[in-house]
Amino acid sequence: MSGMYRNRVKSKPSNPRISFQRVVQLVSAVLVNGYLIGFQKGKIFTGSSKALCVPVLNCYSCPGALGACPVGSLQFALGGMKRHFPFYILGLLMLFGIVLGRVVCGLLCPFGLVQDLLYKIPLPKIKVPKRIDKPARWLKYVVLLVFVILLPIFAVTKIGIAPPYFCKYICPAGTLGGGVPLMIADPMLRKLAGMLFGWKMLVLVVILTVSMLIHRPFCRYLCPLGAFYALFNRFSFFQMKLEPSKCVGCQKCEHTCPMAVEVTKNINSTECIRCGKCKSVCPTGAISSGISLLEKGK
Ligand code: SF4
Ligand code: SF4
Repeated sequence: MSGMYRNRVKSKPSNPRISFQRVVQLVSAVLVNGYLIGFQKGKIFTGSSKALCVPVLNCYSCPGALGACPVGSLQFALGGMKRHFPFYILGLLMLFGIVLGRVVCGLLCPFGLVQDLLYKIPLPKIKVPKRIDKPARWLKYVVLLVFVILLPIFAVTKIGIAPPYFCKYICPAGTLGGGVPLMIADPMLRKLAGMLFGWKMLVLVVILTVSMLIHRPFCRYLCPLGAFYALFNRFSFFQMKLEPSKCVGCQKCEHTCPMAVEVTKNINSTECIRCGKCKSVCPTGAISSGISLLEKGK
């Protein structure tokens, strides 16, 4: 770094023990899974709040879940017995998308928190080459389109309903939050566990293992909810902002970004989960974020 820049780069005070992001993630995880006694009993909460969707990927069958998962609900609406256009679910997701974009991924999603914590394990980390990383990120849109929308609409069984394909064959959050606690608490379920549960466990173990080596692999490559919110990132009310005149090109932001966003070139990328890490490490305060309602009209 040149001498001219060195004067402008003041070292930031050391990070507090627990970041704002972590506090919000923990509060959110507890709020959406607040029926703690369910874990002890091995029983799913069935109160009236279960009719409402939460904005994050959080399995309906998690014993603590107080609300429904929007991805599961979407598949149920499209492929269930009483098929209907999912006005409520899409409306809710669009509302969160328009206001916050992928803030939901960075701050509110419990499975995002799981991946963040696993990445903290001190193991050698893998930087995915761009030629693999870039095309692989399209996978999550394929998962959204095929497993959450098209298969539930068209691949129906003889009795006219479709299983929730994403939940049944892929969702690691469902296995971790629902399948595993229920199996632990209920010996009968353990006896009934077959090939499908084995497959789901394999998917879960692979994703959790990769999460120790690559930051947020599920969010980057597979999550259909992340794909949905990504569509709103560029024009959501909540925006990240980089002030080029303050930037000294130190690249600290890019080195710290969990989603490998090219922060100085494309800060409101569809991949940005608005975790705020770039903002907190930037030594010149070049990065800001917030709801920019007034700037929308400019
Ligand atoms: S660009 Fe910044 S806010 Fe977005 S994911 Fe990367 S570190 Fe987080
Ligand atoms: S925006 Fe990124 S590259 Fe620019 S000064 Fe801040 S941390 Fe360094």
